[in-house]
Amino acid sequence: MARPHVVIVGAGFGGLATAKALHRAPVDVTLVDRHNFHTFQPLLYQVATSGLASADVAYPVRGIVARQANLAFRQATVIGADLEGRIVHLHHDDHDVADLPFDHLVVAAGATANTFGIPGVDRHGFPLYNLADAVRLRNHVLERFEAAEARPALVDDGALTFVVVGGGPTGVEVAGALTELFHRVLRRDLPRLPVERARVVLVEMQDQLLAPFRAPSQRHALETLTERGVEVRLGAQVARVRADRVVLDDGEELAAHTLVWAAGVQANPLGRALGLATGRAGRIVVGADLQVPGRPGVWAIGDVAAIASGGRDGELLPQLAPVAIQSGRFVGAQIAAATTGRAPATSFRYRDKGTMATIGRSRAVAELPLGIRLWGLPAWLAWLGLHLVMLAGFRNRISVFANWAWNWLTYDRGPRLIFRSGPRRAG
Ligand SMILES: Cc1cc2nc3c(=O)[nH]c(=O)nc-3n(C[C@H](O)[C@H](O)[C@H](O)COP(=O)(O)OP(=O)(O)OC[C@H]3O[C@@H](n4cnc5c(N)ncnc54)[C@H](O)[C@@H]3O)c2cc1C
Repeated sequence: MARPHVVIVGAGFGGLATAKALHRAPVDVTLVDRHNFHTFQPLLYQVATSGLASADVAYPVRGIVARQANLAFRQATVIGADLEGRIVHLHHDDHDVADLPFDHLVVAAGATANTFGIPGVDRHGFPLYNLADAVRLRNHVLERFEAAEARPALVDDGALTFVVVGGGPTGVEVAGALTELFHRVLRRDLPRLPVERARVVLVEMQDQLLAPFRAPSQRHALETLTERGVEVRLGAQVARVRADRVVLDDGEELAAHTLVWAAGVQANPLGRALGLATGRAGRIVVGADLQVPGRPGVWAIGDVAAIASGGRDGELLPQLAPVAIQSGRFVGAQIAAATTGRAPATSFRYRDKGTMATIGRSRAVAELPLGIRLWGLPAWLAWLGLHLVMLAGFRNRISVFANWAWNWLTYDRGPRLIFRSGPRRAG
């Protein structure tokens, strides 16, 4: 009899965790991702701010799963499904469309930016969700400095003003890293340019930064960023954006040629494309066992899934890597149990191991279980250690560690490259 076929959509934290949990199960697994690499999203901001190279935060999926005998990888985009017929539709880059039958389908397609329909953000904003976003932002930032050196009048027009929207961990990390890049590195690179006039403006609609953290961590983030020259605008919202202007809701117009959008998350639209019921921010509705209600054998995990926190208030679990990893492992174990006749667990329980955010060189906040709170250098060292351990691939860990050590000792940022892949030349 043919072994059950498990199709996992997405080789992010969640999809890889499911795949690994099925290592010994009597199933055949096909892992599908539109990219041939896994992206370590928590360090994307360092690629965007020239701290790390692209290859440091991405790892070939085939290299990760090569030793798993029951797994095949397919680079393709899932574009839809016939859930009754138990088939997903794939699109390959060469425009070929193919069908892939499944017995179990695990949707682990992650999240994307939510611009809330604010005029101009889709067109002019820079989100930070994948490697292409990070490289695009890095190119754009460095190009503003090159352009300003060539035409100094651009400085008055806002070429060196960078607005970061969203005071959550990503916004705080980007703002801290940008100000360091400008005042420690680009100031040396561009001695004829008044780099001291470069501004980083962090706009947050709430009255504090780092909303999920406690008040002392929030204060530490605010004080550190302010000390380092970031202009923090609390209680402010972006009303509209043009290529060279950002207008706030109180009517203030900032001359700025860059808007980094770190303010909103929504689920990958794949849930809707598959015809699955979605809830808040497009997240796929799942039961306590992470199966889609009324669709046995269809599961959703990680950022794309609306996983209840288990509290009375109907809150959902946050879109964080540990949620994706734990939910991925859980679904892998559920499928393994189903295929070996063992009783599956009835509900997923998330174990919160705490949260961290960096605020730039030698500064971070960390809130860990048992009420352990760290700020400043100890939190930063804990953050470095955790991210090194979580990175896929030994080579990446060595490379990231070497880069961090070099950056810390010399204030240098090696990968400050403007790199665009142009059209292929004929002949
Ligand atoms: C800038 C940034 C910083 C972050 N920092 C932190 C942090 O410090 N700590 C933390 O815990 N979390 C952080 N997160 C959140 C964390 O990265 C996510 O929660 C986690 O990646 C979710 O894992 P996932 O498997 O659900 O999705 P992802 O890791 O996003 O993986 C989804 C995969 O699906 C693939 N895919 C999508 N659509 C399709 C399709 N139609 N067909 C085929 N493949 C598809 C994508 O290519 C991707 O590989 C950060 C996120 C971002 C964007």
